[in-house]
Amino acid sequence: MAVPKKKTSPSRRNMRRSHHALKSQAHVECPSCGELKRPHHVCGACGHYDGREVVSATAQA
Ligand SMILES: [Zn+2]
Repeated sequence: MAVPKKKTSPSRRNMRRSHHALKSQAHVECPSCGELKRPHHVCGACGHYDGREVVSATAQA
C-alpha cells in the first residue's frame, strides 16, 4: 500500500479543505405563485413553466 512520506501539516490540510465549502443553491421566485424555485426548472408548487402550467400541481406532491 502506498504510504505518505510526510505527515500533512494542519496548514496543508486546511488549504486542501479551503475548496470544500458548500455554495448556496440558486433560487428565484416563481412568477405565477411566488414560491421559491430553481431557475429554468418547472415550479414544484404550481407546476408552471414559462407562464403556463406544464405539470398538474396535484401530481407534484
Ligand atoms: Zn409556482
